[in-house]
Amino acid sequence: MNKILEYQKLEGELISIDKKVNQSPAMKAIEQANQNSNNAKNEMKELDKRAGELLASFKKLQEIMQRNVQNIQYLEKQKIENSDKGQIKKLYDNIKKVNNNLNIIEQRINEINKNIDGVLKKFKRVKEQANFSKDKKVKALAEVDNLRKSFDAQKAEIQSKMQALQNDIPAKSFESYQRKRKENIFPVYVNAIDEQSQMRCGGCKSIIPSGRSSKLKSDGFIECEECRRIIYIDENK
Ligand SMILES: [Zn+2]
Repeated sequence: MNKILEYQKLEGELISIDKKVNQSPAMKAIEQANQNSNNAKNEMKELDKRAGELLASFKKLQEIMQRNVQNIQYLEKQKIENSDKGQIKKLYDNIKKVNNNLNIIEQRINEINKNIDGVLKKFKRVKEQANFSKDKKVKALAEVDNLRKSFDAQKAEIQSKMQALQNDIPAKSFESYQRKRKENIFPVYVNAIDEQSQMRCGGCKSIIPSGRSSKLKSDGFIECEECRRIIYIDENK
């Protein structure tokens, strides 16, 4: 039992080293950069869509403008060939109407141009932000890499100690320990908490039923029915 507890303690050290790396500011910076880059991608997609819509309405207005220009040309030709006063007035009115249309269209085109300009500016800004984020990520990745490397020797030493201990641990115990580790259970072995004659699991703190308590006392260990850790009685206590 002592050997596997020692093994568990060493594994705990490995886990806390990995935690130091995974919870480092550089790692958080990487996560933030990833999120920023996702946001930028979505924003750029939206802007792309908006630009497409603006371009389509621009083209449509251009077509309408073309038609109106043709109308004016046609009407002007009519004016020269026609001398009837009533008809001339009608022609003038028509030309005026078409001119008005053209003014409105021009205004709209200007508006669209302004909007397209705005979209392009925003696109540029988002892209710059994305690039900045990317640079930060590259730096943070290098930082995490360095941090990880700084623990290499320490980890190797712990791992070799674990390797050596493994030979002294009964295969059955070791296998069951590894099985629980694969389920992400840690620590696997926990102390029994003995309070006011009531026993509790040292991992999840749930109360151990009296029948199981006696088994724990006679066998020295049981599996927690709640968290599946192995509860043992610490004889050194
Ligand atoms: Zn438990």
